[in-house]
Amino acid sequence: MKNKAVTIIGGGLAGSEAAYFLCKRGYEVTMYERRPSYDDGAHITPLLGELVCSNSLKSMQLTNACGLLKEEMRRMGSLMMEAADKAAIPGGNALTVDRDLFAKTMTDRLLTFPNFHLIREEKTDFGEDLCILATGPLTDGALYDRLLELSGGTNLSFFDASAPIIAKDSLDFTKVYAKSRFDQGDDAYLNCPFTKEEYDRFIIELTHAERAHIHSIDTHYFEGCLPVEIMAGRGHETLRHGMLKPFGLGTPEHPKPYAVAQLRQDTKLGDYYNIVGFQTNLTYREQKRVFRMIPGLENAEFLRYGLMHRNSYLDAPHALNEDLSLKKAPNVYIAGQLSGVEGYVESAAVGIIAAVEVARRLEGKPHINVPKETVIGALLDYLFHFVGGRFEPMNANWALFPDSSKKSREKTIEIALHAIESYWKDIHE
Ligand SMILES: Cc1cc2nc3c(=O)[nH]c(=O)nc-3n(C[C@H](O)[C@H](O)[C@H](O)COP(=O)(O)OP(=O)(O)OC[C@H]3O[C@@H](n4cnc5c(N)ncnc54)[C@H](O)[C@@H]3O)c2cc1C
Repeated sequence: MKNKAVTIIGGGLAGSEAAYFLCKRGYEVTMYERRPSYDDGAHITPLLGELVCSNSLKSMQLTNACGLLKEEMRRMGSLMMEAADKAAIPGGNALTVDRDLFAKTMTDRLLTFPNFHLIREEKTDFGEDLCILATGPLTDGALYDRLLELSGGTNLSFFDASAPIIAKDSLDFTKVYAKSRFDQGDDAYLNCPFTKEEYDRFIIELTHAERAHIHSIDTHYFEGCLPVEIMAGRGHETLRHGMLKPFGLGTPEHPKPYAVAQLRQDTKLGDYYNIVGFQTNLTYREQKRVFRMIPGLENAEFLRYGLMHRNSYLDAPHALNEDLSLKKAPNVYIAGQLSGVEGYVESAAVGIIAAVEVARRLEGKPHINVPKETVIGALLDYLFHFVGGRFEPMNANWALFPDSSKKSREKTIEIALHAIESYWKDIHE
């Protein structure tokens, strides 16, 4: 059985996807997961595939690059997509999930395989055998140092934050109302309308509030997920043109709100909500004080505070081979956010591809490129062939398809789905 055995380090989104593919293919999979005995400050459950921040897997529409990526994953038999369908809760156009049910579904599914072996232990090195490293953006300690050594000493990082979660029954429903923007979708969001005076006061307090200390000299942020206080600091009106934009959210009682904060359901029961876009590095005390200035949140009960984390990733063009193995340690395959992609869905998708490549290697088959016409293929192409200054992590977006315009989008989608199906057929031959 030795050549049918694979070790996976990390039971997050990518590691779980990789395990699912390999288990279905008959491999003996041993997964090492350091939770629950290790507290990394972001994960709070022992469940595999836990979402650390937002409970949204972004748009479900194929005309959105992340929506198309999810459809590609469905066609590759993704565990994340199976779990998301089971745990879906109202979220307008976004695929929004009850985070606990989502992770529990992933965990339970993997545990049904007799060839899946879960060891709750922290790994500090990778042995000589083939392994998939899927320890995510919070990789640290001895394993991080080893990775640094093997990737040419050029690991990169950026700072990312999570948003707070509050209790629905602590909201003031004389102010808060349910409505979806322009009445599209299912009134999935709760809305907190600001007057101009409330908005002005809020922005001043937000930008002056005390921030938690970051233990690093490199405070590089990911532009796609800036802390709310950093965004607000870029200009008094910035949030009003971003996640607090009021358009399409007026009602007869609030015909023209100046700005609107939206709350998204976080659990199937509908008792927890997160404040959309409010990822933050404010101290807990300041989160409570400043976010309670949002109309309707005056007595909000905080069930989880926002938190800032250093996200590590590899300098993929220099560190990785095109089959996702490390150039300096070809027995180690990198999956998930460590590979240089950004986002839940993107990380999970790379987990599937890493597993495909490991299986091919064990089956004596050559590496196979994922077609560049697909979102996952375009993302991988970016990782391997990026040229320029500092390599930045990438999420699914249409800029990865320079030849595709809004007008030709339908064709791009059709080509991508056709390409992923032929890729999937090829790897099963
Ligand atoms: C604070 C924060 C907020 C984020 N918010 C969002 C968001 O809102 N939306 C979004 O799309 N993306 C977000 N991301 C980015 C990213 O999509 C997620 O981090 C995603 O979970 C990455 O998937 P992964 O499988 O690569 O890593 P993870 O899901 O983090 O999985 C890694 C796993 O490896 C385990 N592990 C780590 N080291 C070891 C070890 N040495 N031995 C054994 N086990 C180990 C961990 O416990 C964990 O279970 C966020 C990231 C962070 C850090």
